[in-house]
Amino acid sequence: MYDPDTGAATKVASKTSRLIERIRGLLMFIDLPIKKKFLFFAGSILLWFCLMCAISVVSMTAIHYEYYRISENVTPYRQAIESVLVKLQDLDRSLRQIQASRGSADSAGLAYCGKQVEAIRSTLIELRLHQTSTPAGDTIVEQILQDMAKANPEGLQYLREMLTVSDRIDRSLELLQGRRQSQQGPEAADRSQLAAFNAALAPVAEAAAMSTKQLARVSAQYKAINQQLYKNIRESVHTVIGLSIVASLLLVLFTNWIIVAFYRPIKMITKQIDSLSTGDIDLAKKVSITSKDEIGVMSRKFNSLMETVHGMTIYKKVIEEDSSLEDVYRRLGEVFTNQLGIEHYTVYEVNALQKEMRSAYPPLVGDRQLNCYQDILSDCNLCRAVSTGHDISSFEFGGICRYFSAEQGLGHVCVPMIQGGNTGGVVQFCFPTGDGGGPLSGEDAARLFKAETYINQSLSVIEAKRLMQTLRSSSLIDPLTGLYNRRFLQEHTKQIVSGVLRRGNQIGLLLCDLDYFKQVNDTHGHDVGDQMLKETSAILKSSVREADLIIRFGGEEFLVLLLDMAPGQAVEVAEKIRIKVEQFKLRVGSVVLQKSISIGISEFPKDTDGFWQAIKFADVAMYHAKETGRNRVVRFLPEMWQHEGF
Ligand code: GH3
Ligand code: MG
Ligand code: MG
Repeated sequence: MYDPDTGAATKVASKTSRLIERIRGLLMFIDLPIKKKFLFFAGSILLWFCLMCAISVVSMTAIHYEYYRISENVTPYRQAIESVLVKLQDLDRSLRQIQASRGSADSAGLAYCGKQVEAIRSTLIELRLHQTSTPAGDTIVEQILQDMAKANPEGLQYLREMLTVSDRIDRSLELLQGRRQSQQGPEAADRSQLAAFNAALAPVAEAAAMSTKQLARVSAQYKAINQQLYKNIRESVHTVIGLSIVASLLLVLFTNWIIVAFYRPIKMITKQIDSLSTGDIDLAKKVSITSKDEIGVMSRKFNSLMETVHGMTIYKKVIEEDSSLEDVYRRLGEVFTNQLGIEHYTVYEVNALQKEMRSAYPPLVGDRQLNCYQDILSDCNLCRAVSTGHDISSFEFGGICRYFSAEQGLGHVCVPMIQGGNTGGVVQFCFPTGDGGGPLSGEDAARLFKAETYINQSLSVIEAKRLMQTLRSSSLIDPLTGLYNRRFLQEHTKQIVSGVLRRGNQIGLLLCDLDYFKQVNDTHGHDVGDQMLKETSAILKSSVREADLIIRFGGEEFLVLLLDMAPGQAVEVAEKIRIKVEQFKLRVGSVVLQKSISIGISEFPKDTDGFWQAIKFADVAMYHAKETGRNRVVRFLPEMWQHEGF
């Protein structure tokens, strides 16, 4: 019973698995055409290449930037401050020497000091220029430098203060020079000179302290930049190594997917083709590739081919084992209907000897009618496919066959079944013609192609079965009279009896024996006897219905089986036969031969449940007729059986 919970769970599970399959397909590019797969592969390699290049450029630029900060900025800055410091120390020393010498060579000393201050100032101005006036340039390095200048306010502050201090030193020196020129009294001059020297030395000391502090700061900055540089190099190396590992893993993965997508299915198909060529193949085994790319399409087509071959092999095996020709026609029809979806078709069987054809399948029941005029049945050569032995298609040439009678909107393709050089049958397929006529649609053409393959597979089996049928019917038919023989009755008893019993009817059995037949042979010869037997069988045939069976039971004994007989009909028919035989005259030269016949009647299952017992009863009745004067019809009675002492 259907469990709604289980049903829902199964639905969800199948939906999930479909979704997973779809995601997998997307990730692995399974459903993309091969060309796009390669484009994606090349694209992703290019992407990785670009990514690596970008990372290299960025890290190299960062390293270059740090390096530039050190080499172009920090290092000259530090060197400038160091040189300023040296000059300040020198200035300090010079001032102190002038102060100690108390005037000797002091003008030259002061001039030297003035030069020193000038050198310091020009160094500072140079530094300042370096720090502040970097133009906004095009290159990334210039940009960085400008940013750095903005980011170094302390440096600018130092420069500004140092320039102020150097101005102060300068002014002090000028003051000193002025004092010397004023030449006041020695004591007053000494005092004021001392004060002026002190006023000059103080800013020098201040500048030295400031420069030392700035130097320490720049050194710390140098160290920090250096560390940053190493950090950048380290990080770049790590990033590149990491990315290389990821890229390698992805490459391995992609290569594996490519193997899955290409190599495996191709190998499987190759293996199947190999097995096909050696015959060592399980045709039911499929290539399990479900991708929607060209390989998937190829796999599906290959599977479909295998399926057809498999179906065909099984089909041939089955029809070979089918017991009758009718079964083969039915099986072929079922393939057309169920497997190929062909709606309108008729399998005709051609009897080349009789120049007749008959509709073998599907049976003409209900509203079903032939799509050909009935004339072809009695003269098979009217059928163009039979007379030419070629496919006859109204889709190739409209109105090609005059005996095609189907309604508007249907065209025909008639395929002859060539067996042993003759047309043993024809399969007529009818397909819709479409609005403007024209050729067969691609779908119908594919169906027709497959149908023809099945027909070709059936030809040898149909031929063999027909041959068997001919051989068989020849062994079941009496060659002299063309009636069935006793062997036929033996083989078909079950079939005959079960049909009548199923329908709840009776069989009337007439056992007919010519009276004094031996005399005919003896008097007129065996040939005249044979002639008499033929005429008798013709009388029998003309006296019963088509559906009744006449069997040449013995030499001049005939058994007539009146199938589904009406009550009392047996005696009537027997009497008719008796009279016809009695009245028949066979002319032999100048002599006219007239014979009579004795007929015994029984009824099955009225008289007995056993069919052969009923024949025996008819035989008993026939002997009774002989005994009671011949040329008689005798209905079996139970007392005859006892009387005969059987
Ligand atoms: P009765 O009235 O008792 O039946 O006499 P009858 O002569 O018909 O009896 P019987 O059964 O003795 O003879 C049958 C004869 O039929 C014997 C045989 O020569 C003849 N006969 C059987 N088969 C054939 C046949 O195929 N051709 C010919 N010409 N004669 C046959
Ligand atoms: Mg006889
Ligand atoms: Mg006899």
